[in-house]
Amino acid sequence: MSIVLSEDRCCLTTDCHKAARLQCPTCIKLGINDSYFCSQECFKGNWEIHKQVHKKARNDKQNTEYIPWPGFQFTGKLRPFPKTPKREVPDLIQRPDYADHKKGWPLSEQAVKGSSHIKVLDDDEIEGMKVVCKLAREVLDVAADAAGVGVTTDEIDRLVHEASIERECYPSPLNYYGFPKSCCTSVNEVICHGIPDARPLEDGDLLNVDVTVYHRGFHGDLNETFLIGNVDEEGRRLVQVTHESLMKAIEIVKPGVKYREIGNVIQKHVQAHGFSVVRSFCGHGIHRLFHTAPSVPHYSKNKAVGIMKAGHCFTIEPMISEGTWRDLLWPDDWTAVTQDGKRSAQFEQTLLVTDSGCEILTQRREKGGQPHFMDK
Ligand SMILES: [Zn+2]
Ligand SMILES: [Zn+2]
Repeated sequence: MSIVLSEDRCCLTTDCHKAARLQCPTCIKLGINDSYFCSQECFKGNWEIHKQVHKKARNDKQNTEYIPWPGFQFTGKLRPFPKTPKREVPDLIQRPDYADHKKGWPLSEQAVKGSSHIKVLDDDEIEGMKVVCKLAREVLDVAADAAGVGVTTDEIDRLVHEASIERECYPSPLNYYGFPKSCCTSVNEVICHGIPDARPLEDGDLLNVDVTVYHRGFHGDLNETFLIGNVDEEGRRLVQVTHESLMKAIEIVKPGVKYREIGNVIQKHVQAHGFSVVRSFCGHGIHRLFHTAPSVPHYSKNKAVGIMKAGHCFTIEPMISEGTWRDLLWPDDWTAVTQDGKRSAQFEQTLLVTDSGCEILTQRREKGGQPHFMDK
């Protein structure tokens, strides 16, 4: 047994309580002054874990020089990181109209903007939606497997991009109204539309990945929130309640139900647990167009137009916040954050209304369809 003198450091290795005088040389170079080890053996044994400290320090340093909007008042702790150049999609893959528009305008969508007419899909169109939604699910599962502490959201975007192309899909977000990346990655206080960048995910983060792909003329859209490393109890509860609210909403979907009812179900559940429903972003019709009628608000007493009919295809995608439901846009004009900087979670599925209820076209094929956060 050895007594650690107060002026001595304790070895960094967990469960090693020996006094330590050897300092990690990389840490010294990086200006980290509290990394001590008792012996060369402990230093080596701890390397795989300890080197993460260097990675984070280097990244923080790189990012202190990246201040894109001086003077902007952030609502929480999250900051933008540098972004990689726009990724390319091979010419052989069928592209939506906005992919090649200078400003990314979806002219086919804009042509029917303002109309509340909801398309009833024919058998071929339903088949097209089933195929694309299955592919979108596969791509989201790739992102789920990759997400973890130290992985950047840009790396997840790269994997989503490659997985889409492998499946002969165009990643729908890419260039949509000029969006620069192939999926949305929304961390902690980001409600939605976060842009993948060089920020490595940290222990305790909530990460939502929203994937939409376009295949043979149809879009399929889904998202899930993942737990990165060890998430605190309140964060896990937020994610759980958000997922429950989506499932409860899906349960009422069948012909004859008003689209405005969905928000009542979601807000009732969420409010009972002390959380709030974001109002600025809605679910949407989806098929040959990425976003179209109906508009599906997630809050109660909304004025949504339309009644469900067999053959309608749309998403439900509640964004649920720990604190205020109010949102604010970062100056990149995409990233929507909570006004109080508290966290927000989201889940989304693409649904097909059937004669007796609905089919979740983007449902996970493994683990009885449960979301990834329930795996661990
Ligand atoms: Zn959507
Ligand atoms: Zn989505």
